[in-house]
Amino acid sequence: MASQPRTGTVKAKVVLLGEGAVGKTSIVLRYVENRFNDRHDSTLQASFLQRTLNIGPKRIQLAIWDTAGQERFHALGPIYYRDAQGAIVVYDITDVDSFTKAKNWIKELRRIVGEDIAVCIVGNKIDLEKNRTVLTTEAESYAASVGATHFSTSAKQNKGIQELFLDLSKRIIDSGLSAQQPKNDKLFAAQTTGRRSIIVEDDFSQPAETLVSTDGGSKCC
Ligand code: GDP
Ligand code: MG
Repeated sequence: MASQPRTGTVKAKVVLLGEGAVGKTSIVLRYVENRFNDRHDSTLQASFLQRTLNIGPKRIQLAIWDTAGQERFHALGPIYYRDAQGAIVVYDITDVDSFTKAKNWIKELRRIVGEDIAVCIVGNKIDLEKNRTVLTTEAESYAASVGATHFSTSAKQNKGIQELFLDLSKRIIDSGLSAQQPKNDKLFAAQTTGRRSIIVEDDFSQPAETLVSTDGGSKCC
């Protein structure tokens, strides 16, 4: 595709929400580093990842926030998602209870943030289709009823992950949500001190792709 002039970079904060062990960290690690860990480590902090996407003439810088496992202790407060422009609410397709929890997160999000946030609901672990207990049709119609889009993913097999982030980015741009930025740059800086951060740059309109790791290339958290 021929390159077009950019119209400036917009910034957006995206948060991962959902019950412990549904695959939030795995989705982020797959998206940013294209790797997967079979072992669940609730203390593993992917934490803060920044990825810039060029979508046609638009450029969006996503600050992607993963939890540090606080959801296990019901200790994930509004400070985590209050100023987000996008939310990815994950459930495990083999765990119907995690879908109920996802619905609770949506209620909480709407109560605190209102409609000013683009929401994706994600059924993860579709490689375990034989153990599915949440119907896709039910999850899709629920998502539509709350103004969210639904995605089916497998972090393990790298299915649906790129599509998820691309859709969310487009919706943030199209709805003008990112225009409220920058309101939390200082907050980002304060909250990311000492935490692992990765910056990846994508381009959906040009072939070039660059990868910059701010942790000096270390794979350690
Ligand atoms: P989090 O607590 O929501 O961040 O969940 P994790 O990303 O730590 O994943 C929890 C467990 O589920 C780990 O053992 C992962 O290896 C596993 N897992 C994550 N995504 C998938 C997936 O797509 N398929 C399968 N089969 N396992 C997954
Ligand atoms: Mg995690």
